[in-house]
Amino acid sequence: MEMIFNEKEQVRRFILIVDDEYINREILGNMLEDEYHVLYAVNGREALEVVKENASMLSAILLDIMMPEMTGFEVIEELHKDEEYKHIPIIVLTSEQNAEVKSLKLGAADFIKKPYGEPEIIRARVERIIELSEDKKFIQAAEKDELTGLYNTSFFYEYAEMMDRYHTDLKTDAVTLNIDHFHLVNEIYGREFGDKLLVIIADTIKDFMKDSEGLACRSEADNFFLYVTHHEDYNVLVDNINKNIIDITGTPNVRIRVGIFSRVEHDLDMEQRFSCAKLACNTLRDSFMHSVAYYDLTLREKSIFSQRLISDINGALENNQFEVFFQPKYDITKEEPVLSSAEALVRWNHPEFGLIKPKVFLPLFEQNGLVNALDHYVWRETIKHIRNWKDTYGKSVPISVNVSRMDLYDNNIADYLLDLLEDNNLSADDLYLEITESAYTNDTTQLVKAVQELRNEGFKIEMDDFGAGYSSLNVLSSMPVDVLKLDMDFIAHIHEDDKAFHMVKLILDMAEYMEVPVIAEGVEMAAQFDLLKEAGCQIIQGYYFSKPISEKDFVELLIEE
Ligand code: C2E
Ligand code: MG
Ligand code: MG
Repeated sequence: MEMIFNEKEQVRRFILIVDDEYINREILGNMLEDEYHVLYAVNGREALEVVKENASMLSAILLDIMMPEMTGFEVIEELHKDEEYKHIPIIVLTSEQNAEVKSLKLGAADFIKKPYGEPEIIRARVERIIELSEDKKFIQAAEKDELTGLYNTSFFYEYAEMMDRYHTDLKTDAVTLNIDHFHLVNEIYGREFGDKLLVIIADTIKDFMKDSEGLACRSEADNFFLYVTHHEDYNVLVDNINKNIIDITGTPNVRIRVGIFSRVEHDLDMEQRFSCAKLACNTLRDSFMHSVAYYDLTLREKSIFSQRLISDINGALENNQFEVFFQPKYDITKEEPVLSSAEALVRWNHPEFGLIKPKVFLPLFEQNGLVNALDHYVWRETIKHIRNWKDTYGKSVPISVNVSRMDLYDNNIADYLLDLLEDNNLSADDLYLEITESAYTNDTTQLVKAVQELRNEGFKIEMDDFGAGYSSLNVLSSMPVDVLKLDMDFIAHIHEDDKAFHMVKLILDMAEYMEVPVIAEGVEMAAQFDLLKEAGCQIIQGYYFSKPISEKDFVELLIEE
């Protein structure tokens, strides 16, 4: 395969030589062919045609003035009429003194005297003119990143696009590479160490690129981009980087992640391709098993779908497209299970896509700062329903609502809830609050204070998804909680894996010692139910009893009890 980059590590550019004399074309062409892709035209008309067909990739035109049919002057005039061709620098080839002045006046960038002198000088002149014209495009920007010596992003994109234009048939990969939790690495080991890592990575990438064609850049911080001919396996690159990091720094604790958009379609925008690769890379967050992820269509569809949902969010709140479902919780401490409460779970009733689960849309709400509005809506609806159940059927159970971490930053959350309850003649006994465990672990002081305050106001606090985060078992002694909700993942395998059951048993025993009741959620099978009951779990929520159901169906359940 042809080299795309010459020794100067630059894209091999296209130039056009226009001369009616065969021998002149040969001499000049020979001088320049090592460094450039050289196209030829034998007269002015042909030159215009070649330019028309290759305008986007032509870096310079070397143009003879004295030609039959159409002179070089006429060619310059023609080209400069067109916005698209105007920017291509023209170097005039001439033996006449007067022609020099005239051609410069007409806008030629430079001239080369015939007969041709030292090849070195001519090459330098062509290079200089191309550089000048490209510099105009990136006036302030520096081409290379100072720290790593890799390209900067704008140049990278520009050159990557050139690579596509010149080699339309190449199968290429858009690759992103970064360091897991780089900001943490910086914090723990210091900036200097962080910089060292970046240099090691850049050097390993350069090494990797020696055997393949393409280019690399450092985009920002620890984000590296590679645009290279297709590789089957990027684990090699990851392994080399890991090896070099350990060899040089002695630290095995740095994790590299790679996202790849493989064999990219050339019609996709270059930046878009790298956001696709990044999307793939993001799927590796917190994954300890894999370092390399590929972008595929499902990811693409997902991101298009997310974009669509984001644009629908505001209208959805205004148009009441959200519906609260209820999933019953059963007290299993007695002979027969008793409906003791339920969890309010929101659904988006999208006019086009139907019922959408919170897993899909909640993250979008969080990103857009709209989760508070949504939660407030759910709380209001839930309280309204409880009031209605009491009035219409003389029955109700306490309902737990989910409280996002974001809600806790609101200083008025307790007042907001108390006012809502009071307006409906209800009390804090009617509404439990589920707060996910990560709220406790991320930024303890302020959030714990907020939770404590809610508790002081009489709200029962259920710690949701316990065990999914990183809090150790003894958090319970310092955290204000009334109930533990075991994360579903714990339950999933207890009926088939002794170790899993052991873990659950351990938590149950500890909770009993702390006198905190435990809810097991995600209980699907009789075998799981039996084990949990046997082990002393008090409350069960899961498909084994019921999926989350509509308010209408929940009312029926309530009446039956
Ligand atoms: P969560 O609070 O842990 O809720 C339990 C989730 O587990 C619910 O998913 C429920 O449908 C599901 N589930 C219950 N039993 C089983 C089972 O036996 N097997 C399996 N496989 N799944 C079961 P859902 O409704 O999709 O909600 C997902 C998460 O979204 C909730 O997890 C909660 O964190 C969040 N969420 C739901 N509604 C709201 C809300 O109104 N506000 C906020 N902030 N978050 C909400
Ligand atoms: Mg919950
Ligand atoms: Mg949960």
